[in-house]
Amino acid sequence: MLHPASVHEFVFRKLVAKRDQRACASIMFRNRIIRRHRRNCDPMRLSRRNALSTCGCFAIMLSSSKLGLADDDNYQPFCASIPNGRVSLAQTSGSTGDAALDGALIYETRRIRNFFNVRPGVRILDDSGSPNAFAIPDALISGTHGTVLLGSTLIQSELMNHMGGLAVGGIVAHKCGHIVQFYSGIVNKLMQGETTARLVELHADYMAGFYFGVRSASKELDVKPFATSLFSKGDWAFNDPRHHGTPQERTKAMYAGFDFGKEYDSTVMQAAARGIRYVRSA
Ligand SMILES: [Zn+2]
Repeated sequence: MLHPASVHEFVFRKLVAKRDQRACASIMFRNRIIRRHRRNCDPMRLSRRNALSTCGCFAIMLSSSKLGLADDDNYQPFCASIPNGRVSLAQTSGSTGDAALDGALIYETRRIRNFFNVRPGVRILDDSGSPNAFAIPDALISGTHGTVLLGSTLIQSELMNHMGGLAVGGIVAHKCGHIVQFYSGIVNKLMQGETTARLVELHADYMAGFYFGVRSASKELDVKPFATSLFSKGDWAFNDPRHHGTPQERTKAMYAGFDFGKEYDSTVMQAAARGIRYVRSA
């Protein structure tokens, strides 16, 4: 059986096990993707439309959403879920309920996967209770490695609050950064001697920044929406195993990766190594 864990839960479990404390609580996700976001909530639809048309990220290829699904037989645009601590594909969806948004997500996700040279499956989940997204090491779909779970509420929230197709792209890049960590041993390396997930999370922020930095080398990108998004997700829960870093630390880590990607012609693994050094000194 699969034992899925988000990177946060993954790290949390390791810490808990290490200290022989209570078992990690599993995450429950309901078996329903709320479709209310696709319906007529005018401000939301307007906001999303604006975001998609101005983000320079998800705006691309909206009209080719079908192509994004059809032109690669092996490509699984979305794929996974976490009920009772176990993964069930049935508890996720392959669609946000909005064809244009799906197309943009598929396009951007493919781009990020290719960039990081990883092949996680990607699925949409109902996170209506708590906006979130997850990367898990389990491959739930044949032919994929690891899984990225994107909350439908989180996506909508990002598009509304941060005007950020780019912020959503950044979240996917952050998750793919975790996938790189899973398969390269970086998670274990960064967790050594640590009591929180802070270094792992800042490293994923760095890698997401690196992705945008490389893209920005050829065409300038405004990553402020993603920086704002990260800032809003920082925390001061220094003793919580799930501590992600303060708002300032998260933003700085992303910009450090961004600058590195923009200035240096580096591979993903070179950036990952640089990111390790960065977060250890942050
Ligand atoms: Zn993370």
